[in-house]
Amino acid sequence: MIVFDLHCDEGHRFEGWFGSSDDFDDQLARGLLTCPECGSVHVSKAPMAPSVPAKSNARPEARVPAAKGQTAPIANREMPGEVHQAMQKLAEAQANALKDSTNVGGDFVKQSREMHYGERDEAPIHGQASLKEAKALVDEGVPVAPLPFPIAPPEKLN
Ligand SMILES: [Zn+2]
Repeated sequence: MIVFDLHCDEGHRFEGWFGSSDDFDDQLARGLLTCPECGSVHVSKAPMAPSVPAKSNARPEARVPAAKGQTAPIANREMPGEVHQAMQKLAEAQANALKDSTNVGGDFVKQSREMHYGERDEAPIHGQASLKEAKALVDEGVPVAPLPFPIAPPEKLN
């Protein structure tokens, strides 16, 4: 998995996860990539470096704070029925995929890393990680994938 910083023609910035660089090009060419904020299909890769304020006297606190890791796209209008159905199917598929997986919550990053380096037996797990932590795992070659839906923390399942 690789992560790209993307932006739309309205200037919204967001993250996209892809199997490969070709995967990005393919999804873009087929119009499957849309901005989570405005739905624009005019999406392109953002430069890797954070944008530098044009004014030299701009104060750091005046910059827009970076999005927090756990935020999810959200809309303030009702979604059509087919979106709702598709979401439900996806949620079911996720629940099915995680059936034999253990929710380790905030311990996910540590356990995934230990498994990758052979310090722990391989087992299917899922849990929470910030975007930064997830990126670090990907950079290290640890196989992780984002889940489309939030999962309940383990303490709430007891
Ligand atoms: Zn947008």
